[in-house]
Amino acid sequence: MTNEELNRMSEDVREEGINQGSSMKDLVFDPITGDFRQVPRGTHHGEGDVVTEMTNKGFAAEAATTIVYLREDELREAAELLAEKKHIPAFVEEVDEEGVYHIHLRTQASNVPMYLELPGFYTKESGLMSSSEMRAFRFCVLMTESGPEVWCRLKPFGNQKTDRNWEKADVFLIPSEENLFSRSKGILEVGILKGKRVMIVGLGSFGSQIAIELAKAGVGSFALMDFDRVELHNLSRHTATVHDLGRLKTNVIEEAILGKNPYAKVDKFPVNINENLKLLYDEVEKADLVICATDNNISRFNLSKALVEKGKTGIFGRAITRAEGGDVFRYRPGGPCYCCLVGEGDLQEEEITDVASARRDGRIAAYVSPEDADAMVQVGLSSDIEPICNMMVKLSLVELSRGKESGISSLEDEFVYDYYMWANRRERHFANWKALPNAGGYPTILRWYGARIEKEADCPICSASYKLDEGGDIPVEGLDNIEIDLS
Ligand SMILES: [Zn+2]
Repeated sequence: MTNEELNRMSEDVREEGINQGSSMKDLVFDPITGDFRQVPRGTHHGEGDVVTEMTNKGFAAEAATTIVYLREDELREAAELLAEKKHIPAFVEEVDEEGVYHIHLRTQASNVPMYLELPGFYTKESGLMSSSEMRAFRFCVLMTESGPEVWCRLKPFGNQKTDRNWEKADVFLIPSEENLFSRSKGILEVGILKGKRVMIVGLGSFGSQIAIELAKAGVGSFALMDFDRVELHNLSRHTATVHDLGRLKTNVIEEAILGKNPYAKVDKFPVNINENLKLLYDEVEKADLVICATDNNISRFNLSKALVEKGKTGIFGRAITRAEGGDVFRYRPGGPCYCCLVGEGDLQEEEITDVASARRDGRIAAYVSPEDADAMVQVGLSSDIEPICNMMVKLSLVELSRGKESGISSLEDEFVYDYYMWANRRERHFANWKALPNAGGYPTILRWYGARIEKEADCPICSASYKLDEGGDIPVEGLDNIEIDLS
């Protein structure tokens, strides 16, 4: 390594050190041994020495300082309560016994299991705490003029009578709602997304990922609909983990959303929408955008009807057999609806991911034996459905920010189609497609193609002239008649 490279490296480390805060030790390069040597900070170094700072989060493993995370919004509320000399409920969450603590200045959320360490929180300055009370506490938050200070007493208690056991922790603030997504500014209109409500119907492999992506983008309000629970076979494609087995998917995804955006509002509906049409319509009305990520056509048609009636935008997505490909359909008020897209017929080609739900909606007939039914379950890889989820998320973000200037608005020029298709492998449907190199004017896999969909004049769902028979299921047909627009 040349001196120049070393200097550059040392500059990088120094910059990192400064970013990470205060430092008590320096590293000095020893040209004889060829490695860095640790010296107390500020010790005299020779001229031309390569010196770099160490931080307690960088290289200095022994400098075990306690790190505390506090939430800015909770601090603000706590300060108000303090001013009125009121008790502040709080709890402390220890992260992996690494000396990292998350302090919450609020009551414990009931559905998140956490270790409640303290009965309550007071500060020295509030005047509410006597010295005997003081001994019961291991954390103390001081509101000072220059910001919050956190003192902790985590080392084995030698002498609890004095303050000498108290150690000052490094405090990091979790930004308040308005600053949480500051990094997305310029690309997304975060302020706009915060005020939007997205309804997600179906929290399987598609819905779970889309929900979390939208939470990361800053969508502020969610309605989650799914009555299923997490099962073992879900794990390979779902965001849920083994710890979630048996839990309602609505609860699992609520937790995941709040983990990304603790300020999001989440309403959960663990119901079958096909049996709760009134609720479905009411929720569609409240939503700015509806994601249809169910695995059957009955619910897609019910949702489609609700979207047409309430004049709302919806994004439909799915994978076909073994996820060899998939498609995404966007409904906008006045445009062709999902029924205009698929027409009549059956959709046996659709990916069957779950025997129970396939039996429920008739895709696997009652007379099929359990062994044969298992063999009909055809799932693709998570990486095969990922591009389809991603397309649904992008379309969603463009629809939610439509009309507002932002980094993604230029995509409005691309997203002029209502229907998009994607092929993962040259298999079955796509077996005769050309391989990517030298495909010329032919369609190839691993690319999105838009297709123009016509509104059907006599569509049972969106045409005014057609009176829908509410009694039975609507037959649908395959996608053979869709022409791919290569322009
Ligand atoms: Zn239609």
